[in-house]
Amino acid sequence: MFDLSGRVALVTGGNGGIGLGFARGLARNGAAVMVAGRDPAKNAAAVTALEELGATAASVEVDVTDQESLKAMVARCVEVLGRLDILVNNAGTNIRRPPEQVTLQDWHTVLNTNLTSAMFAAQAAHPYLKAGGVGRVINNGSMLSIFGMPLHAAYASSKGAVVQLTKSLATAWAKDGITVNCVLPGWIDTDLTRGARRDIPGLDDNVRARAPAGRWGTPEDFEGIAAFYASDAAAYITGTSIAVDGGYSIQG
Ligand code: NDP
Repeated sequence: MFDLSGRVALVTGGNGGIGLGFARGLARNGAAVMVAGRDPAKNAAAVTALEELGATAASVEVDVTDQESLKAMVARCVEVLGRLDILVNNAGTNIRRPPEQVTLQDWHTVLNTNLTSAMFAAQAAHPYLKAGGVGRVINNGSMLSIFGMPLHAAYASSKGAVVQLTKSLATAWAKDGITVNCVLPGWIDTDLTRGARRDIPGLDDNVRARAPAGRWGTPEDFEGIAAFYASDAAAYITGTSIAVDGGYSIQG
């Protein structure tokens, strides 16, 4: 039921942080994994890490803000690994700034990286996901898909929209045998949050106190959700968003 042998996954931002957690979960359950990121050294290290799990893995350089680059990423995945069954739209970024100081450039950078990329990666992947008969799209949202924060107008707008994109693609592509779901990470210890943890007074204590789990999340916490959503066990689950947050979002 959870076996992904013979399936191919493509993970944007799969070269580190939560993306590498998703990639490990898929690899551990038998999928071959194409890691897509900008940094060739990180890409290569992630491939090695996945191969050490016994998986088939490869990497492709991509700038997810560029539609042509997304098309080339999908084509490369199919060329190297033969098919594409599972697309994980994980690459993301944040620019923390009060709304009165957000520039148009900031806005476009965050929206293009977090939201527009997911739409057009999914569009490029659609023919292959459909052809394989067991297509999966897994998008990465955030606690800021559901909450607001003062310095996160662009980020929260992008992540809220990722949930709606998930539902829209799910309704459109169910007829093609494709499920589309979303993950809502809580506060996870990665390169992306290290600055916030350092700079936002009280954040570290708040996360530990509010999350019933009593700790920050780790990339390893994302292995299971990726494997589950990708598996046959989740064949009748589509359009959902599952929080992986140690309970942060259920406690006021
Ligand atoms: P990281 O900074 O470790 O990961 C970000 C990833 O995105 C990197 O692999 C990076 O690759 C890739 N990336 C960024 N911009 C681009 C681009 N233009 N083209 C291609 N790849 C790009 O942070 P996280 O693991 O924390 O973040 C992963 C996802 O999880 C993001 O969508 C983030 O919003 C989300 N998230 C994180 C939370 C957290 O607490 N950490 C909470 C909620 C959501 P490269 O280094 O090669 O550029």
